Amino acid sequence: MDSSKSNTSTNSGPQDTNSDDEEKSDLCPGFKDADAFVKYGLGAVLSATKASASLPQSGDEYDFYRSFPGFQEFCESQGDKLLHCMSQLMQHHGCRSHTRDRNKITEVEERFDLVVDSNDVILERVGILLDEADGVNRSQQPVMPAGFQPPKIVVSSWNRTGPGSGSRSETFRLLHAKNVARPQLKFKEKVDNSNTPFIPKIFIKPNAIKPLPSYFTNKQIRKQRPEDLDVPAALADFIHQQRTQEHVEDMFAHPYQYELDHLTIPESLLSKPEPQMYKAMAETTCTFIDTLEGLVALNEKLCKLSEFAVDLEHHSYRSFLGLTCLMQISTREEDFIIDTIELRSEMYILNEAFTDPAIVKVFHGADSDMDWLQRDFGVYVVNLFDTHQASRALNMARHSLDHLLRHFCNVDSDKRYQLADWRVRPLPSEMVEYARADTHYLLYIYDCVRVQLLDYNHGQPGLLQSVWNRSKDVSLKKYVKPIFTEESYFELQRKQKRSFNTQQLTAFRLLFAWRDKLARQEDESTGYVLPTHMMIKISEELPKEPQGIIACCNPVPPLVRQQVNELHLLVQQAREMPLLKAEIAAQKNKGLTPIKKPEVTLFGPHDTSRVSESDLPHFSPDELPVKQGVLFSEDDHRMDVDVQKTSGLVAAPKVTLFEELVAGTDPESLSVAQTKARRIIESFENPFRMYLPISDVHISKNAKFDPSSKIFEISKKWKLQSIEQQQKELEAKRKAKDEAREHAKKVAEERIKAKQSYQESLQNVATVRQQAAEFAKGGGKKREREASEAGESTPKPSKKLMKSEEKPQKTEPPPQDTFKPFDYSQSDLKVFAGTKAKDNTQFDPNRQSHDNKKRKTPKGQKSNFAAGNRSMSYMAGKSDRGFRHNWPKR
Ligand code: AMP
Ligand code: MN
Ligand code: ZN
Repeated sequence: MDSSKSNTSTNSGPQDTNSDDEEKSDLCPGFKDADAFVKYGLGAVLSATKASASLPQSGDEYDFYRSFPGFQEFCESQGDKLLHCMSQLMQHHGCRSHTRDRNKITEVEERFDLVVDSNDVILERVGILLDEADGVNRSQQPVMPAGFQPPKIVVSSWNRTGPGSGSRSETFRLLHAKNVARPQLKFKEKVDNSNTPFIPKIFIKPNAIKPLPSYFTNKQIRKQRPEDLDVPAALADFIHQQRTQEHVEDMFAHPYQYELDHLTIPESLLSKPEPQMYKAMAETTCTFIDTLEGLVALNEKLCKLSEFAVDLEHHSYRSFLGLTCLMQISTREEDFIIDTIELRSEMYILNEAFTDPAIVKVFHGADSDMDWLQRDFGVYVVNLFDTHQASRALNMARHSLDHLLRHFCNVDSDKRYQLADWRVRPLPSEMVEYARADTHYLLYIYDCVRVQLLDYNHGQPGLLQSVWNRSKDVSLKKYVKPIFTEESYFELQRKQKRSFNTQQLTAFRLLFAWRDKLARQEDESTGYVLPTHMMIKISEELPKEPQGIIACCNPVPPLVRQQVNELHLLVQQAREMPLLKAEIAAQKNKGLTPIKKPEVTLFGPHDTSRVSESDLPHFSPDELPVKQGVLFSEDDHRMDVDVQKTSGLVAAPKVTLFEELVAGTDPESLSVAQTKARRIIESFENPFRMYLPISDVHISKNAKFDPSSKIFEISKKWKLQSIEQQQKELEAKRKAKDEAREHAKKVAEERIKAKQSYQESLQNVATVRQQAAEFAKGGGKKREREASEAGESTPKPSKKLMKSEEKPQKTEPPPQDTFKPFDYSQSDLKVFAGTKAKDNTQFDPNRQSHDNKKRKTPKGQKSNFAAGNRSMSYMAGKSDRGFRHNWPKR
């Protein structure tokens, strides 16, 4: 709202206001100062927006109301009044205010364009005036690479008023600092948003026991990125693949895995310390470091210590992957604040201290810090103590730093800046103070919790040791980049707990892909490009007109406005999807427009009754055993298709008796009567569906439909992940499979009882056993199971107690598959071309089945699919990047 200040002020009167003139009485008559006026204006705008949102919607209610002449008249008079008001405003700003078009229908569109144009003109003027007021010379704009939006010059209240004056309203504005220059523009190494897995940035390995693999030391190989080659994407991928093939194992391993595996906590750190009181903040020097010399000096200082505390501040809204903005370090004597935007490329220097096993690094809730350190600086931590883990082991009431500060230090921390925009420079003093407090007391807390951990356990080191182990697990965490696949949207859609029909789901899928692509390209968060709730609204409404898309968004994200036509094409494409019979019938019954489907789905979003038939997997006749004359196959058939589709498996599990019973799914194998019966059954909708106990159904179904198994599709394409990661997914998949199998078995057993005699005449039971036996001998699942069993002995970051001695000495066997990056360009071209080619718009699991190599799955990937809600201003505090599931609440 800051930027609209002078804009709104001109509304107050016809006099030609000088925005840079700060004379209060002239600027906002009747108001104390500009702030009071803005506050009032904001309230007025908000209530107007609210009121307009509650107006009857065109399409249903509106048309009904419109049939009353009174309503019609009122609307017209109000409409005229509004239009008059708007056109006056436009004239005041020297914008064109009359439509040239007298055609009733197109006039609306032109009016809309007029408003958009005028807004642009007005906002541009506001920007110029604010710049002038701030003494910023507009012509000094930084040179930008193509594809970036013109950056707004740094204009925020915090750099206008001198530091030290910390009024409430300033704080408010700080948190909403909108005009921060993009730090990315200054980065020496450009951000890699490509849809390829993250490769560690490290190129020097201090404190190494095992030397750094040649891949990382050889700058030549490392620097050649596929996107830098001047060849088509597919060819670039291929060349890259050839070059890096032999390094795959190293590329995805934790560079300090070996050192961490061999780290033992010395006796001294397992015995009771004498807590060393922190120095008062006021008596502690705080050094702000933004030069290389400063950083080198700090590193030297740190290397002489036996412990120091660390924290990071991060920004995720105006960047695709997020950026680390600040590092706070506290020793027992001093505090340091490092400008990690300025020193981004030099931060690796700190690895000398950070990976020194003789120096304890104390963090609070280091999970995301580990990711950020690796991703932005290539920094790793050897010998971590995480006070969050300590707090958990102590079973404290809450595990936030906030709580620890109050509990141990009697300090009330101020949460106001938690979601501040940490990119702002120069950093206001209040933010510096806030950031300092995050590490200032941490070493004392480290002492206190160690004492308590020992006391808690009657002086035995077991509990304390477990915290060291858990901390080590945290430091073993590897950063995983969010990867887009054609199925990524599924994960997010599933979380929404909304039922979508075929068209809505298609829209959601297309919008998701559009948003991901644009976010990577523009280096913005997906939440900035198009917040998830707006994406859902557009998918639900499927607006017929571009304006309808705009209407779904409030406030309209700039990139949505810019590309509304593109989005409109995507929505149109979705609208062309055929609805299923059941969907149409349901709509007819309820007399609703096709898009509103209030009924609850039986099996959740994976209910195939809601998915187009072409979305279902296609099986060749020899893939599915076809048994003639099986009765009662209807219901099982549906469930079975569900399993196949949603588990992302190409072939049906062939181990259970279940298969035998549901054979005959091939429509051609059904008799005429069966086909008829099937049609009738399909046309039925249980009227009590919505009252059915969803949770019941969900639990059993959920496991089978666990989309984590979708991950296998991705990894099949990538074949790049470390064994450790795969094993976790395999385990999850095995679990899901086991559950599905168990369920199937149950059903099968019941049926066997009832139908035994009948079956005996028809089925050869031995075949079933043979199949099972065959499967047990050497089938694909066996291999997977072995893999996951082995995986249980590998360390599980942050979940398991660590058993250093039991750990396998060998780090990780090389993934067997060759490097084959997912061809993002291929899939997204289809999506973004806006073409209506049928096979592009329809999900076809078989499409990925050409590749029959073992599927591999990265560990963190699952959570990273949902990189969606990273928006700070739209969904503050609701960030759901996977690693945030245990945000240390402050
Ligand atoms: P902290 O370790 O609490 O200082 O947090 C580090 C960074 O994590 C902050 O700079 C924020 O960017 C981010 N963060 C912390 N808490 C939250 C939250 N509840 N929601 C979203 N982001 C958060
Ligand atoms: Mn932190
Ligand atoms: Zn912090």
